[in-house]
Amino acid sequence: MSNKVKLFNKFGIMIVVKCMKHIMNYQRDALINEFLDLSLKKFNANQVFDWLYLKHEYNINNWSNISKEVREIIKNNYDLSFIEIKKKQTDHLTSKYLFRLNDDNLIEAVLMNHDYGLSVCISSQVGCNMGCHFCESGRLKKVRNLETFEMVEQILLIEQDINKRIDSVVIMGIGEPFDNYDNVMNFIRIINDPKGIAIGARHITVSTCGLIPKIERFMEEDMQVNLAISLHAPNNEIRSSIMEVNKVYSIDKLIDTIRKYIARTNRRVTLEYVMLYNINDSLECANMLADLIQGMNVYVNLIPYNETSHLEFKKSPNINAFYDQLKKRKINVTVRREFGGKIDAACGQLRSKEVD
Ligand code: SF4
Repeated sequence: MSNKVKLFNKFGIMIVVKCMKHIMNYQRDALINEFLDLSLKKFNANQVFDWLYLKHEYNINNWSNISKEVREIIKNNYDLSFIEIKKKQTDHLTSKYLFRLNDDNLIEAVLMNHDYGLSVCISSQVGCNMGCHFCESGRLKKVRNLETFEMVEQILLIEQDINKRIDSVVIMGIGEPFDNYDNVMNFIRIINDPKGIAIGARHITVSTCGLIPKIERFMEEDMQVNLAISLHAPNNEIRSSIMEVNKVYSIDKLIDTIRKYIARTNRRVTLEYVMLYNINDSLECANMLADLIQGMNVYVNLIPYNETSHLEFKKSPNINAFYDQLKKRKINVTVRREFGGKIDAACGQLRSKEVD
């Protein structure tokens, strides 16, 4: 809802600025409550959801079943702005979008064409402070969290661009989603609303590098959303050498937390494991990993590394042998199909080219 903020300009004079919350920061119930406070009707909020998320009509002047007076009240109380697509690169299975935010910051999302449907990997922050050494996104430090609407609009703009519905969403682009916890949870609830974008919870995956307190909080949410953990190593020594977060939340504590999460939610967890040549890709590593997760309701997703010119890490040639070893040890394992090698599809690559 609109409110007024007092600021001082460069001459020290106080100015009062009207600060409007973006309309896509609202879950439907919250919007209904605010509309009632503005003496609007509950069905007006449902109409707004309908225009934005089902009809994909973003120009309020075209919301023909809402009276002009009501539209004026909405315009005067809510921000209706859009981020914009600055660049798009496509190969046959993947499209990568570079978005310009309203404050000129840049973020990315990737659209992937799987045999089971269209999925979008979205960003949750501008940059990232988690400092994973192999990651292009983390090379550029966090500037700020994304607001909920900036995540919602990544999906809407891609749906509008391809004129198709998205089937699944992965929050695994630029940023650590659990470092922007409240906005990400709000985003998930908005896109999951059956009267809105209606992406089923089981088709939404949130990925974390292992922020244990937030995983503990997440397990108490009443959501059927999938959890993916970026594990990337079988022991503390290797993990700390490539992921700063392991120095705070060690792998043994992380595995304990994952066990707790599985027991609490009865949901399978995905363990992401990026295959880095000569770092974490030996058969010894595969055996250590199998020992670590034996008997847990997890599956390991082996990720071929996307090399970038800025970082010295190399793609492992040992993925098949590593996969076979895990299989032999009765671990559920898949190899992620490679997407977009030709189009800078490593998370953060397109943005870092623009920002450098
Ligand atoms: S891998 Fe994810 S958590 Fe790690 S630096 Fe990159 S964006 Fe951040």
